[in-house]
Amino acid sequence: MLVDSHCHLDRLDLSRYENGLDGAVAAAAERGISTMLCVCISEENKDRVLEIAESYPAIFASVGVHPSDVEQELVDVETLKTWAKHPKVVALGETGLDYYYTKDKAAFQRESFCNHLVAGAETGLPVIVHTRDAREDTLELIRAHASPESSGVLHCFTESWEMARQALDMNFYISISGIVTFKNAEELREVVRKVPLEKLLIETDSPYLAPVPYRGKPNEPKYVREVAEYIADLKGIRFEELAEISRGNFFNLFKRANA
Ligand SMILES: [Zn+2]
Ligand SMILES: [Zn+2]
Repeated sequence: MLVDSHCHLDRLDLSRYENGLDGAVAAAAERGISTMLCVCISEENKDRVLEIAESYPAIFASVGVHPSDVEQELVDVETLKTWAKHPKVVALGETGLDYYYTKDKAAFQRESFCNHLVAGAETGLPVIVHTRDAREDTLELIRAHASPESSGVLHCFTESWEMARQALDMNFYISISGIVTFKNAEELREVVRKVPLEKLLIETDSPYLAPVPYRGKPNEPKYVREVAEYIADLKGIRFEELAEISRGNFFNLFKRANA
């Protein structure tokens, strides 16, 4: 059984499914993927994300504001803590820093990221971190504000081994998307070979970043299997073993999903 540890189910292209999201969830289940974490990116999509999590027993939710959305929405710690009270919420985020696309909003992003880290530490919930071209600042804020117990995950990781190593030292997990299957991702493959198995999560980040051989097409949770098969190969272990370990990791990190 596999887990998709990060997907945006409210944004999937459902045109190939007559019965909408039910169809995509059933297609994933047919391939052994039943548990999913549907990730919130703004106050605007929060209610839909929670509604999806309420509709399926094995789909969980996060609450937070994506770094690309923070200028419109700077949400304070108390508000985040209130959002997190929903019983299907297992994490804060996604939050973080993206200096690649939105460096002009860096100060807002840092303040928002800090609020999510504090809310995570205070609620005991892990934090889902999006980080791109902001290695030093990301690590510095985690060091200053994250709780080593509830910790979090660097999702859709594409940065250096040095960054991964420092995050692992702070008890964070590293989540790998379909990017690892891309031709030009040799540096990332090198990182994946080094990340300890017990700290590895697997995600689609659908509807974005479909793995090879679906690259460029709409992504969906059922393709987490291609990502997992590829990583099992890199790690030199059987697919079933990787599926089992990464599933265990998911429930170790997102503890509220066990209830
Ligand atoms: Zn992201
Ligand atoms: Zn995402």
